[in-house]
Amino acid sequence: MSFHSNDKRASDAPPAGVPTTNWQEWSQERALAATLFDGLAKDGIDTPGITRDSYGAGEQRAHERIAALAHAWGLEVRTDAALNLYVTFPGRDRSLPAALTGSHLDSVPCGGNFDGAAGVVAGMTVFSRWLRTGFVPAHDCTVMAIRAEESAWFPLSYIGSKAAFGMLSGDDLCILRSDDNRTLAQCIEALGGEPDRLRAGEAFLDARAISRFVELHIEQGPLLVERNLPVGIVTGIRGAFRFRHAQAIGEYAHSGAAARGKRKDAMLAVARLIIALDHDWDEAEIEERDLVITFGRVQTDPKRADFSKVPGHVAFSIDVRSIEPDTLLRLEACVRLRCAEISASSGVELDLGLQTHSKPAVMDAALQASLLNAAAIHGIPTMKMASGAGHDSAIFASQGIPTAMIFVRNENGSHNPAESMTMEDFACALQLLEYGLTCEY
Ligand SMILES: [Zn+2]
Repeated sequence: MSFHSNDKRASDAPPAGVPTTNWQEWSQERALAATLFDGLAKDGIDTPGITRDSYGAGEQRAHERIAALAHAWGLEVRTDAALNLYVTFPGRDRSLPAALTGSHLDSVPCGGNFDGAAGVVAGMTVFSRWLRTGFVPAHDCTVMAIRAEESAWFPLSYIGSKAAFGMLSGDDLCILRSDDNRTLAQCIEALGGEPDRLRAGEAFLDARAISRFVELHIEQGPLLVERNLPVGIVTGIRGAFRFRHAQAIGEYAHSGAAARGKRKDAMLAVARLIIALDHDWDEAEIEERDLVITFGRVQTDPKRADFSKVPGHVAFSIDVRSIEPDTLLRLEACVRLRCAEISASSGVELDLGLQTHSKPAVMDAALQASLLNAAAIHGIPTMKMASGAGHDSAIFASQGIPTAMIFVRNENGSHNPAESMTMEDFACALQLLEYGLTCEY
């Protein structure tokens, strides 16, 4: 269990390949960040994990903790109609477009302490360094603590960042919270927000007044751990197409008596589809395309299926993701072609059902180059990588704002209590974030 960020400080050494000088220079920031994470963990403890429910008591406590800290440090604090929190460090020329950083403070039920919160703690820690050293950036820099990114509580992602740009619809505000059936509007209003202004499409953020958005987040896959790297620079957030409720419709028959040539085995048809698409994935890999394909749900009907019956019906899902729009289009054509081929040869109807899409979000090339440059300057080993999961950054990129993401090594995945990030790795990411916020752009 690693809610407490100093669990791993026993090693007391920089990550492999990182010069000792940087590591020492950021020792005060590492200590402060550990304290901030421990405070958030204390507020969110919900054994066996951490719960910061969107527009609920857990998320609210986290927002209050960050706002109180910002007030104590004398920084500017604002909230919008959706109760996103903005902490601003004033720059030398306040008329220049601001640099934004931040992430979400909510969590899934019984999740970990770092998913989301790391991005807010990172921005606050960089600000504390500037206060300590007397540094003043050329332009305003703002940490945004974003509301309700996780779709665990309301069936919609990126609620806070969408709201900040006036992108929530009246229908969105009527969605129900999963545990108590209150509407999103009721939950926002109960905490002092103004759903009517959101319903009217009022935007708090103006993309033209924002020079960049840089989000720091824990990595949710195993790549950085496998490659022994403290941080990664994100190239893009994968888009997806999904068939959530596909079905194979064959014919139930006696497993002993039905001749092979006469069977319409729905399970075999789905298995053939899975293998065929796995071969298509092989080909995409040879062409070095970014792609992941998942059949997350494959099920026979528990009422009708039996060991002694040829399965006549299988419900399944297909989730295909890539950062490349043309790869998504190509795979969609592959899925339809494979289904047609398998249906024709097996007599099993493959009905894909309703399709849903999300567009890939490409991270800004110049910002990526700046972050790679910062890593080279500070001697921090890193790699470029795609983000498999969605993030608020996708909304900022969709508004035409140059957007970048820094991933921090994290063991054991995310959305679970075993999330684990060391303060040493976090300090490496802070150095990149500081550069990303202040570099000329
Ligand atoms: Zn997250």
